Amino acid sequence: MPTETFEFQVEARQLLQLMIHSVYSNKDVFLRELVSNASDALDKLRLEKLRDDALDADVSDLHIEIDIDKEERTLTVRDNGIGMSYEEVGRLIGTIANSGTATFLKELKEAKDEGGAEGLIGQFGVGFYSGFMAADEMTLVTRRAGESHGTRWTSRGEATYTLETVDDVPQGTSVTLHLKPADPENQLHDYTSPWKIREIVKKYSDFITWPIRMDQEPGATDGEDAETPEPETLNSMKALWARSREEVSDDEYHELYKHISHDWREPLETIRLQAEGTFEYQALLFVPSHAPHDLFTREYKRGVQLYVKRVFIMDDCEALLPPYLRFVKGVVDAADLSLNVSREILQQDRHIRMMQRRLTKKVLSTVKEMMTKEAERYGTFWREFGTVLKEGLVTDSENSDAILAVASFATTHADDEPTTLTQYVERMKDGQDDIFYITGESRQSIENSPHMEAFRDKGIEVLLLTDPVDEVWVDTVGEYQGKRLRSVAKGEIDLDAEGDEKAEGERAKQAEEYAGLLGWMGEQLGEDIKEVRLSTRLTVSPACVVSDAHDLTPALENMYRAMGQ
Ligand code: ADP
Ligand code: MG
Repeated sequence: MPTETFEFQVEARQLLQLMIHSVYSNKDVFLRELVSNASDALDKLRLEKLRDDALDADVSDLHIEIDIDKEERTLTVRDNGIGMSYEEVGRLIGTIANSGTATFLKELKEAKDEGGAEGLIGQFGVGFYSGFMAADEMTLVTRRAGESHGTRWTSRGEATYTLETVDDVPQGTSVTLHLKPADPENQLHDYTSPWKIREIVKKYSDFITWPIRMDQEPGATDGEDAETPEPETLNSMKALWARSREEVSDDEYHELYKHISHDWREPLETIRLQAEGTFEYQALLFVPSHAPHDLFTREYKRGVQLYVKRVFIMDDCEALLPPYLRFVKGVVDAADLSLNVSREILQQDRHIRMMQRRLTKKVLSTVKEMMTKEAERYGTFWREFGTVLKEGLVTDSENSDAILAVASFATTHADDEPTTLTQYVERMKDGQDDIFYITGESRQSIENSPHMEAFRDKGIEVLLLTDPVDEVWVDTVGEYQGKRLRSVAKGEIDLDAEGDEKAEGERAKQAEEYAGLLGWMGEQLGEDIKEVRLSTRLTVSPACVVSDAHDLTPALENMYRAMGQ
C-alpha cells in the first residue's frame, strides 16, 4: 500500500499548535507521557494474553527501551506491548476522541488571556502530542500483537500526518522524536544526554512496573565487558502502595497520580489504606484538585485501577467505589483475587463489596479531616466535588450522615461563605426546631421569593439549595442530628413561638375577619388550588403559592414531567 496523507482534525491541529509553541514551560514531561503510553501498552498486552492464550504474542520480556542517537539528534521510546493496527493508529493518534476537547480549547484560550493556561493542559488526552514540545518531527512504527503487518505514522506536527504499511516490524510500538535544534544557551533541555534522560525517568516514571532500559555508552562501565555493556534499568519499579509511608515522598505519590489520572496537576489529597487480616489489600487513592469536564457524562471513566499482587488487572474498576465517589483516582491492590477476575464477577464478590464499604468510609473520613484541619483545601474540594458527593445522599443511606457531615451549603447567613449543617444548628434561634431550606434555580431567584419574607423578618437562617440534586436528597434524608429538614415553601409554617396565647388569639380573630374573603377566593380559583389560608410567612407580598408538605416541588414536577412520568 502506498503512503497516504491525512489531515488532522481541527481540534487536534489546535492542540498541536499549542504543543509546538509550548505553552507548557516544563518540556521534560513529554518523556513521561511516552513512557506512560508504553507502560499502558504493556499492561494491555499482558492482560490480553492472559484472557486469550492463543494470541500470537511474545510476552517473555516485556519492557520499555529508550535510545539516544546523538548524531541524528533522535530519541526513541520503544515498547514490545500491544501495538496498534493501521486503523487504530489513524483513530487513536490522528484524532482526539475526547468530546470535551472543544470546551477545553475554549477555556484554554480564556485562561491564556488571564495567564493561567498551563494548569489546564493536562486535563485532556494530549499525551502523545506533547512530543512536539521537543521534536520537529515524530515517527511512530507499530505492529499489533498477533498481526503480521506493521504501520508507520509520521508527522511534523503541522496540518497533516502520513500512514503506510510496513513489513518486518517488531511487536509493539516505537516512537522516534527528531529533536529540535540544540539551544546552545540552554543545556537544560538536551535530550540527547543520557544523564538528562536518567534524571527525567527517575523523577517521573520510577514507579512504572515495567523495566525502562537504556543502553549504556561504551566505556561507561569499567571491566572486561566495557565494549558491550548491559543496558541499565533506569527505574526502581517499586509499587508505591506497597512501600511504607515514610519511604515515599509526596512528589513520588503525585507522579503516580499523574500517570493514573492523565492529569498534569497535583492531586488535592492522597489517601492510603492498608487492610490486613483474611482479605488483604492496599489502596492508594487520590482526590484530584479539579473536577474533570466529563464527570457528569456517560463517557466518564472512573479512575480506580485494580491490581492483584502488583499485577495490573483493570482500569476503571467501578466495583471499588460507589458512583458518587467516581472522581477518586488511584490503585487498589488485592492479595487474594484471581488474575482472571472479570467485571461481572467483581460486582457480585463479597470481598469486593467489603472493600467498597471500607474505602468509601475512608474517603469520607478523609474529607471530614480536611474540613476540620484545612478549611481552604476543604473549600476547594466542596466546590469541585460537592455536587457529585450529594448524589450519595440519595443512593447511599448507610453513609448519608457522613456525607451530610462534610457537606456545606449557601445560606442567608452569609453572602459568599457556605455553611455546614452543624454550624447552622449552632446558630438556630431559641425555639427553632427545624432546619429550613429553600430550593430553586439560582440564589438570586430564591432569595427574593415571597416564601422568604417572614424568615428574613424574623432573622431565621435559610439554606439556599440550587443544585438539581438538592431537590431529591432533601426528601430522602429528612433530618440531620434529630432536626427536621423543612422547606420554607411547603406546608404550614408557624414562625411564632407556639403556645403564645396572645398570638393564637390574634390569629383566630383574623381568621374570622377574613373568612368571607378567603371563601370568595377559594371559589374563584376553584380546581386550581387546594385551599386558601391566612399566612404568617408573608410580610410584604400579599399572597404566595405553597405546596403541601408532601407535594413535589415545582422543579421536581418539571423534572419528572421532562422524563415522561
Ligand atoms: P491517553 O494516553 O491519555 O489515552 P495519548 O495521546 O497519550 O492519550 O495516547 C492516545 C492513544 O494512543 C492511547 O490511548 C493508546 O490507545 C494509543 N497509544 C499511544 N501510545 C501507544 C503505545 N506505545 N502503544 C499502543 N498504543 C498507544
Ligand atoms: Mg498517554
